[in-house]
Amino acid sequence: MTQQIQYDQLNRFLFESSQVRGEITQLDKSYKQAIASHDYPPIVNQLIGQAMAAASLLSATIKFEGQLILQFQGQGNLRILAAECTSDGKVRAVARYQDMPKKGKLIDLLGKGQAVITLQPEKGEPWQGLVPLEKPDMAKCLEDYFQRSEQLPTHIQLACDGEIAAGFMLQAMPESANNARAADVTTEESDLWNTVVALAATLKKEELLHLPESVILHRLFHEYGVRLFDPKPIQFSCRCSKERLAVSLSAMSETDLDEIQDEKGQIHANCEYCNQTYSFDVTSLKAAK
Ligand SMILES: [Zn+2]
Repeated sequence: MTQQIQYDQLNRFLFESSQVRGEITQLDKSYKQAIASHDYPPIVNQLIGQAMAAASLLSATIKFEGQLILQFQGQGNLRILAAECTSDGKVRAVARYQDMPKKGKLIDLLGKGQAVITLQPEKGEPWQGLVPLEKPDMAKCLEDYFQRSEQLPTHIQLACDGEIAAGFMLQAMPESANNARAADVTTEESDLWNTVVALAATLKKEELLHLPESVILHRLFHEYGVRLFDPKPIQFSCRCSKERLAVSLSAMSETDLDEIQDEKGQIHANCEYCNQTYSFDVTSLKAAK
């Protein structure tokens, strides 16, 4: 029986008897839904896909109810590229840009900027980490992030062809017993890490996009014991609501509200993630202040 790709799920795996874990994800419907209501140029669609795949991969490590927000901020043609994934696998993404060229490396499109990762628990304080952008593409920026901020050797591959968005990640875990960092692992562990990364680097973008995850893992790592965990479904879902938007609008001054109302005293506001339009009566917004 031919194996089929199980799209829109996050697959976690672990190398048996070693401190290396990994994730693989291939997004179809969730990616298409995220870009459907926008008219992004192809290059933005591809970057959004990579960011969504990356946010899904990174969400595997969150151990609370809440969300992970991955954001690239810059001062170039691309100003903001953001993707979020909640602990229960809901993804959404957005880009802000102007005069985008047809192609270009992430770092050139963003110009001077930074990658920011925010962990936002439902309850409790958010945690944020950031690194300046110094690597050419998104995967390398994120590897750099983990190396610098958490000293965790990480290998990431991202691919998006405008139809499917896929991501693959390997990470050397800190040894939990004494919390020694991965940099201190034994030579044997370090050899295994270098070997599996070298094998992973042979994975082509086309394969990452179009082969089932079990086939990819078997091809790359059949000589090593890899345990695949139950997958977590990933779906596009926006957490915007009329109430939430009303709260932000109510924070505006009455003069500003007057300026953006239409001739019928209505204010129309779009969610920049899902493009849903919400309409408000300006009188009731003022009354709620
Ligand atoms: Zn929305």
